[in-house]
Amino acid sequence: MSGGLDLDVTLTFDNGPEPAVTPRVLDILEGAGIKTTFFVLGSKLADPGAAPSPSARTPRGTGSANHTWTHSQPLGRIGDAARVLAEIVDTESAIDELAHPDHLFRPFGGGGEIGRHLLSPAAVDVLRKEKMTCVLWNAIPRDWEDPRGWAEVALAQCLDQPWTLLVLHDLPTGAMGRLKISSTACSITAGASARTSRRSACRSAAARWWRTSPATSPPDARDWSPTRCARGS
Ligand SMILES: [Zn+2]
Repeated sequence: MSGGLDLDVTLTFDNGPEPAVTPRVLDILEGAGIKTTFFVLGSKLADPGAAPSPSARTPRGTGSANHTWTHSQPLGRIGDAARVLAEIVDTESAIDELAHPDHLFRPFGGGGEIGRHLLSPAAVDVLRKEKMTCVLWNAIPRDWEDPRGWAEVALAQCLDQPWTLLVLHDLPTGAMGRLKISSTACSITAGASARTSRRSACRSAAARWWRTSPATSPPDARDWSPTRCARGS
Protein backbone atom coordinates (compact mmCIF):
# COMPACT_ATOMS: atom_id res chain seq x y z
CA MET A 1 0.00 0.00 0.00
CA SER A 2 1.42 3.34 -0.84
CA GLY A 3 0.33 6.93 -0.56
CA GLY A 4 1.70 10.32 -1.26
CA LEU A 5 1.99 13.64 0.42
CA ASP A 6 1.31 16.88 -1.33
CA LEU A 7 2.50 19.50 1.11
CA ASP A 8 2.10 23.18 0.44
CA VAL A 9 5.35 24.70 1.65
CA THR A 10 6.90 28.09 1.03
CA LEU A 11 10.56 27.71 1.77
CA THR A 12 12.76 30.57 2.97
CA PHE A 13 16.31 30.88 4.26
CA ASP A 14 17.46 33.51 6.75
CA ASN A 15 20.65 35.08 8.11
CA GLY A 16 23.03 34.45 5.18
CA PRO A 17 24.68 34.60 2.86
CA GLU A 18 27.44 32.36 4.12
CA PRO A 19 30.24 31.36 1.74
CA ALA A 20 30.46 27.79 3.00
CA VAL A 21 26.73 27.14 3.02
CA THR A 22 24.65 29.32 0.71
CA PRO A 23 26.15 28.06 -2.58
CA ARG A 24 25.43 24.47 -1.51
CA VAL A 25 21.86 25.33 -0.63
CA LEU A 26 21.49 26.97 -4.04
CA ASP A 27 22.83 23.81 -5.67
CA ILE A 28 20.14 21.76 -3.96
CA LEU A 29 17.41 24.20 -4.91
CA GLU A 30 18.57 24.37 -8.50
CA GLY A 31 18.68 20.60 -8.70
CA ALA A 32 15.09 20.40 -7.55
CA GLY A 33 13.95 23.37 -9.64
CA ILE A 34 12.64 25.15 -6.57
CA LYS A 35 12.34 28.87 -6.10
CA THR A 36 12.81 30.41 -2.72
CA THR A 37 13.76 33.62 -1.00
CA PHE A 38 16.89 34.30 1.00
CA PHE A 39 16.42 36.88 3.73
CA VAL A 40 19.95 38.22 3.94
CA LEU A 41 21.79 40.47 6.37
CA GLY A 42 23.11 43.74 5.00
CA SER A 43 26.25 43.47 7.10
CA LYS A 44 27.10 40.14 5.48
CA LEU A 45 26.54 41.45 1.97
CA ALA A 46 28.88 44.33 2.75
CA ASP A 47 31.63 42.03 4.00
CA PRO A 48 34.17 41.63 1.18
CA GLY A 49 34.94 38.09 2.35
CA ALA A 50 31.31 37.02 2.43
CA ALA A 51 29.40 35.01 -0.08
CA PRO A 52 27.81 36.81 -3.01
CA SER A 53 24.13 37.54 -2.79
CA PRO A 54 22.11 34.42 -3.54
CA SER A 55 20.46 36.31 -6.38
CA ALA A 56 23.80 36.58 -8.16
CA ARG A 57 23.37 32.99 -9.26
CA THR A 58 19.81 32.16 -9.06
CA PRO A 59 17.23 29.58 -9.91
CA ARG A 60 14.67 31.67 -11.70
CA GLY A 61 12.41 33.27 -9.16
CA THR A 62 14.85 33.09 -6.30
CA GLY A 63 15.56 36.43 -4.79
CA SER A 64 17.35 38.15 -1.97
CA ALA A 65 15.29 39.97 0.59
CA ASN A 66 15.89 42.16 3.59
CA HIS A 67 16.48 40.75 7.09
CA THR A 68 18.02 43.90 8.67
CA TRP A 69 21.62 45.04 8.68
CA THR A 70 22.90 43.83 12.06
CA HIS A 71 20.28 41.26 13.13
CA SER A 72 21.17 42.26 16.66
CA GLN A 73 17.92 43.37 18.27
CA PRO A 74 14.24 43.11 17.29
CA LEU A 75 13.21 46.42 15.74
CA GLY A 76 10.33 46.79 18.18
CA ARG A 77 12.86 47.09 20.98
CA ILE A 78 14.96 49.77 19.32
CA GLY A 79 13.88 53.23 20.42
CA ASP A 80 16.17 55.12 18.07
CA ALA A 81 14.19 55.73 14.86
CA ALA A 82 17.35 56.59 12.90
CA ARG A 83 18.83 53.24 13.79
CA VAL A 84 15.65 51.44 12.73
CA LEU A 85 15.75 53.30 9.42
CA ALA A 86 19.37 52.31 8.86
CA GLU A 87 18.69 48.65 9.65
CA ILE A 88 16.11 48.50 6.86
CA VAL A 89 17.19 51.03 4.25
CA ASP A 90 20.92 50.32 4.31
CA THR A 91 20.22 46.63 3.80
CA GLU A 92 17.88 47.35 0.91
CA SER A 93 20.62 49.46 -0.66
CA ALA A 94 23.13 46.64 -0.25
CA ILE A 95 20.78 44.21 -1.96
CA ASP A 96 20.19 46.78 -4.68
CA GLU A 97 19.06 45.46 -8.04
CA LEU A 98 19.23 41.88 -6.82
CA ALA A 99 16.29 42.46 -4.50
CA HIS A 100 13.16 40.43 -4.76
CA PRO A 101 10.75 42.43 -6.94
CA ASP A 102 8.26 42.74 -4.10
CA HIS A 103 10.95 44.17 -1.77
CA LEU A 104 10.31 41.66 0.94
CA PHE A 105 11.30 42.28 4.52
CA ARG A 106 11.46 39.86 7.41
CA PRO A 107 11.94 41.25 10.91
CA PHE A 108 14.45 39.67 13.27
CA GLY A 109 12.46 37.57 15.70
CA GLY A 110 15.03 37.17 18.42
CA GLY A 111 14.40 33.43 18.70
CA GLY A 112 11.53 32.99 16.31
CA GLU A 113 8.61 34.24 18.36
CA ILE A 114 6.02 36.38 16.61
CA GLY A 115 4.88 39.33 18.67
CA ARG A 116 4.90 43.05 19.10
CA HIS A 117 8.66 43.08 19.57
CA LEU A 118 9.11 42.49 15.83
CA LEU A 119 8.26 45.98 14.65
CA SER A 120 8.06 49.47 16.11
CA PRO A 121 5.88 52.28 14.74
CA ALA A 122 9.08 53.74 13.25
CA ALA A 123 9.79 50.45 11.50
CA VAL A 124 6.27 50.25 10.12
CA ASP A 125 6.63 53.81 8.81
CA VAL A 126 9.84 52.90 7.00
CA LEU A 127 8.32 49.78 5.48
CA ARG A 128 5.30 51.72 4.26
CA LYS A 129 7.36 54.52 2.81
CA GLU A 130 9.67 52.09 1.04
CA LYS A 131 6.67 50.06 -0.20
CA MET A 132 8.07 46.90 1.29
CA THR A 133 6.19 43.73 2.13
CA CYS A 134 6.58 42.10 5.52
CA VAL A 135 6.91 38.33 5.44
CA LEU A 136 6.43 36.48 8.71
CA TRP A 137 6.28 32.72 9.16
CA ASN A 138 4.29 29.89 10.67
CA ALA A 139 6.98 27.25 11.07
CA ILE A 140 10.44 27.49 12.60
CA PRO A 141 11.97 24.08 13.24
CA ARG A 142 14.89 25.79 15.03
CA ASP A 143 17.53 24.27 12.81
CA TRP A 144 20.19 26.45 14.46
CA GLU A 145 19.57 24.74 17.80
CA ASP A 146 19.12 21.22 16.51
CA PRO A 147 21.15 20.73 13.33
CA ARG A 148 20.33 17.02 13.19
CA GLY A 149 16.76 16.82 14.40
CA TRP A 150 15.17 19.83 12.75
CA ALA A 151 14.04 17.96 9.64
CA GLU A 152 11.59 15.78 11.56
CA VAL A 153 10.28 18.82 13.41
CA ALA A 154 9.82 20.65 10.11
CA LEU A 155 7.93 17.76 8.62
CA ALA A 156 5.61 17.59 11.60
CA GLN A 157 4.98 21.31 11.35
CA CYS A 158 4.21 21.01 7.63
CA LEU A 159 1.81 18.16 8.24
CA ASP A 160 -0.07 20.04 10.92
CA GLN A 161 -1.29 22.87 8.73
CA PRO A 162 -2.60 23.30 5.20
CA TRP A 163 0.16 25.68 4.20
CA THR A 164 3.53 26.32 5.74
CA LEU A 165 5.92 29.20 5.46
CA LEU A 166 9.04 27.52 6.70
CA VAL A 167 12.11 29.37 7.98
CA LEU A 168 15.48 27.68 7.70
CA HIS A 169 18.93 29.22 8.07
CA ASP A 170 21.81 29.00 5.60
CA LEU A 171 24.30 29.18 8.44
CA PRO A 172 27.37 27.03 9.14
CA THR A 173 25.70 24.98 11.86
CA GLY A 174 25.69 21.72 9.91
CA ALA A 175 21.91 21.82 9.70
CA MET A 176 21.82 22.24 5.93
CA GLY A 177 23.49 18.86 5.61
CA ARG A 178 19.99 17.51 6.15
CA LEU A 179 18.44 19.59 3.42
CA LYS A 180 17.23 17.20 0.79
CA ILE A 181 14.37 18.32 -1.35
CA SER A 182 12.40 16.49 -3.94
CA SER A 183 10.17 18.40 -6.29
CA THR A 184 7.98 15.34 -6.56
CA ALA A 185 5.61 14.36 -3.83
CA CYS A 186 7.06 12.52 -0.88
CA SER A 187 6.19 8.95 -1.57
CA ILE A 188 5.31 6.78 1.36
CA THR A 189 5.29 3.07 1.49
CA ALA A 190 3.42 2.06 4.58
CA GLY A 191 5.11 -1.30 4.58
CA ALA A 192 5.36 -1.59 8.34
CA SER A 193 1.65 -1.48 8.80
CA ALA A 194 -1.35 -0.29 6.94
CA ARG A 195 -2.32 1.31 10.20
CA THR A 196 0.82 3.40 10.27
CA SER A 197 -0.19 6.97 10.27
CA ARG A 198 0.70 9.04 7.30
CA ARG A 199 2.68 11.27 9.59
CA SER A 200 4.85 8.69 11.21
CA ALA A 201 5.40 6.90 7.93
CA CYS A 202 6.66 10.03 6.32
CA ARG A 203 8.93 10.77 9.23
CA SER A 204 10.73 7.57 8.45
CA ALA A 205 11.02 8.67 4.86
CA ALA A 206 12.57 11.94 5.88
CA ALA A 207 15.23 11.79 3.20
CA ARG A 208 12.73 13.02 0.63
CA TRP A 209 10.22 14.72 2.65
CA TRP A 210 8.42 17.54 1.07
CA ARG A 211 7.10 18.82 -2.14
CA THR A 212 7.45 22.48 -2.81
CA SER A 213 5.68 23.97 -5.71
CA PRO A 214 8.11 25.82 -7.97
CA ALA A 215 5.32 28.30 -8.55
CA THR A 216 5.09 29.17 -4.89
CA SER A 217 6.66 32.43 -3.89
CA PRO A 218 6.60 34.01 -0.47
CA PRO A 219 3.28 35.65 0.25
CA ASP A 220 2.95 38.98 1.81
CA ALA A 221 1.32 40.55 4.81
CA ARG A 222 -0.38 43.74 3.79
CA ASP A 223 -1.63 44.01 7.31
CA TRP A 224 1.22 44.85 9.63
CA SER A 225 -0.20 43.13 12.65
CA PRO A 226 2.61 40.99 14.02
CA THR A 227 0.13 38.45 15.27
CA ARG A 228 -0.96 37.54 11.77
CA CYS A 229 1.16 35.18 9.84
CA ALA A 230 1.89 36.29 6.31
CA ARG A 231 -0.25 34.66 3.71
CA GLY A 232 -0.81 35.79 0.20
CA SER A 233 -4.14 37.21 -0.66
ZN1 LIG B 1 17.12 35.87 11.47
